[in-house]
Amino acid sequence: MLQDLAFGHLDNHYEDHAPKKGDIVLCMQGNGIMVARDRLDALTLPLYEQVQEWCGDWTHWDDQPFRYIFTLQEVRYFLWMGQAGQPGDSAFAYEPAATLRQVVSKTVCFAAMTGWHLFCWYRDSRFCGRCGTATVHDSKERMMRCPECGNMIFPRINPAMIIALTDGDRIMLSKYAGRNYTRYGLLAGFQEIGETCEECVAREVMEEVGLKVKNIRYYKSQPWGIAGNVSIGYFCDLEGDDKVTLDETELSSAEWFCRDSIPAEDDGISLTREMIRIFREGNEPT
Ligand SMILES: [Zn+2]
Repeated sequence: MLQDLAFGHLDNHYEDHAPKKGDIVLCMQGNGIMVARDRLDALTLPLYEQVQEWCGDWTHWDDQPFRYIFTLQEVRYFLWMGQAGQPGDSAFAYEPAATLRQVVSKTVCFAAMTGWHLFCWYRDSRFCGRCGTATVHDSKERMMRCPECGNMIFPRINPAMIIALTDGDRIMLSKYAGRNYTRYGLLAGFQEIGETCEECVAREVMEEVGLKVKNIRYYKSQPWGIAGNVSIGYFCDLEGDDKVTLDETELSSAEWFCRDSIPAEDDGISLTREMIRIFREGNEPT
């Protein structure tokens, strides 16, 4: 998975550093991230010295224009807190954040996706949701604080279950309805307030395909910053009838596939694809 290469090397302890030469700056706005394409069409992220002058021309909505976010494999990453603007003559341009998977280095891809999560949180935490006052950054930890009512706003992570529903040598693969992403995936859904992860798994399977499950067991989790989520992977077994009743507002298809005819490869990035692969190999947890 994406984080495996970087795991153990991410230092996300909050500090109030200033950027210097060699640091990477994540410039994000709207639904775009600033990247350059090299001769092989791979995406690269800008260094501080490449955007320093340009970024300085624009106003920013934090008390500092560059906010240190983390260190990954000894490279420091900053978020540009700018409000507007396009790079001038530089090789850099904004591209949809969905292109982050094309970043050649998985480490950089993981950093960009995690940075995107923080960007969205900072962007959406500028005002206190309780009283409407402009917030300020806490001096000791990554937290926005309301100077008026004391409200403390911490980065928010949404838990989403990734569900491998199996029946002997068969696994259920599905496709989303109404999305650009048209490859086969696993059933999935967000945890609701008041329910356990296991209850969420059972509910989502019933809602999306109308089936009962048993033997729900945890596999792994994965930070998925591009959507602000943590993906939590579970395997479960079909209980009883296997006839699918599709929720067509969520899914365009949901079908059973045997281990030897699974039409999906592991991309080395997502938990979903790793779970499909280990089932194909017969290595799923029992
Ligand atoms: Zn407040």
